[in-house]
Parts: sequence; structure tokens; C-alpha cells
Amino acid sequence: MTNVVLTCDNTLCEKIITTFTPYKIENKAPGVRFSAKVDGCTITLYRSGKCLFQGANAEHYAKPYMTTPPSKPNTTLPTNFSSFSVLGSDETGTGDYFGPVTVAAVYVSKEQIPLLQTLGVKDSKLLKDDTMLALAPLIKAACPHKVLLLKNPKYNTLQAKGFSQGKMKGWMHNQALRLVIDQLDHYPQAILIDQFATKDVYFNYLKGRKDIVHERVYFATKAEQIHLSVAAASILARAAFVKEMETLSKTVGYPLPKGAGHKVDEVAARILRTRGEEFLQSITKWHFANTNKARKLC
Ligand code: MG
Repeated sequence: MTNVVLTCDNTLCEKIITTFTPYKIENKAPGVRFSAKVDGCTITLYRSGKCLFQGANAEHYAKPYMTTPPSKPNTTLPTNFSSFSVLGSDETGTGDYFGPVTVAAVYVSKEQIPLLQTLGVKDSKLLKDDTMLALAPLIKAACPHKVLLLKNPKYNTLQAKGFSQGKMKGWMHNQALRLVIDQLDHYPQAILIDQFATKDVYFNYLKGRKDIVHERVYFATKAEQIHLSVAAASILARAAFVKEMETLSKTVGYPLPKGAGHKVDEVAARILRTRGEEFLQSITKWHFANTNKARKLC
């Protein structure tokens, strides 16, 4: 079922009421101003100005009243989604030349939401590395979770076999979700993946895999802001990535920069000169343009 929630001013409320009066239904629920039922859609307008379109044709009927087109996937999430018990997943390290692609999945039951709020769990992009490293063990102690690291020797092998980064991520998300579900005694109320591909593309990546997690799977961009499970997953993924970068930096003897900018080229060139190609390859995403740039710098 699709849900669309609109916030309406009085003019818009009047418009909706006029349009749907022929389909009016009785609704005595508290706070309800008007309710109607049309083909494949129930419309509930609240005194607060919130208007809920529910059903298979929700988007079709809501569309004329939307100020922005229904492109945001989170409009299709069930209402009150943030208070659901959700298994969320997120990844990091995909744009970094050094270090592993890291995916984490975390199950946050609705009872745990206040605890995570108290701990200060939020979108990892809003937190400093130190804060994340401190939060990660607390999240791990409180919530069923799985963190997967795809180290670069394996990444480079898959990449050479023709795997896109999207497919690698798809496999990792699915695997992390599956491994958390295996720890639970019930299937989650919902699963939310921080969207890196559309739903169709995601499930296309998984074609031929066994153990595909597909029930009640939702996708949303900026999902860290939609449910704390994804925020917690973003923290675990980032903390694991940062730790692995520290380990790799110790192996090299100096700090490895994140990202894929010019600083990265310079450090890569230095490693190339002192340790050779084979070593550099073992700690990098070899197909990135940084490899050739580093060669030129040498
Ligand atoms: Mg993400």
C-alpha cells in the first residue's frame, strides 16, 4: 500500500473537500475533518491540515495537490515509520581510494529508539570520527548488527571480473541484512536501505543469489534522517572504515587520506615509489583514476 501525506493550508483543504465531496464517507475518528473513498484510494483530511492519501492509487489522487512531484521515495513509507521497529543498512568507503567498502546493518526495535536518541545517535555525516568511534560499541552492545568489510584485494578481484560497485554494494547490503535477520526471533516490521540504487536495480544486482531479503524492504535517500536504525548503521559502517584506515596507515607508516582527491594521488605516488605497485594495489581501489595519476607523479 502506498501512503502520501500532504500538509495543506486552508485553501488546499477546501479544494480537496470540494473535489472529493461526491465520494465522502463517514469518519468519526478524532481530529478528522473530512474523509472520502475513491477507486483505490482513501483520503483522510485532519483538522491539523495533514491530508493522508492511502491505497494503490494514492499518488495518482494526491498528485494534483502536491507542490513537489512524488519523486522522493520516502513518501511511499508507511506513516509513523520513524517509530517502527526497523532493520536499517548503510555503506561507506565507496568513494575512497584507500580503505574498504564497508556496509553495516542494525536492528532497532521501537523500544530501543529512546535509548539511541539519548546516546546521540544521528546521521554519521553530522558526527566527528571520535564521536562515532565512541558510539559504535554502545550501539553494538544495544542492537543486533552486522558490519561487513570488503577489503581491496577482494574488491579488485571482483572489479576485474566485471562487478560494478553497485553490485558489490547490493550483495553486501543483502548479506548484512540476512545476517542480522538470522539473529532475530522474528522478521522485522520493516527494512530500510539507504538508497544507492532504485529498488528495481537493487534486486537486479541480486539476481541468482540465494537468501535474498525482499519482504518489507524500503528504499529512501537520506534514510539516516528517516529512521535511527539507518543512522546507527551509518555510524557502525563509518567507525569500521575509520578503524581500518588507521590499521592501514600503521602498515604504511603515515596517515592515509580519505576520499580520492589530489592529496590521495600524492600519497599513492609516495607508496608506489617506496613499496611498489603490488602493495599499493592491496590497499586501494585499483581502477580509480588515482592509480594513473600516481604513476604520472612518480
Ligand atoms: Mg548511504
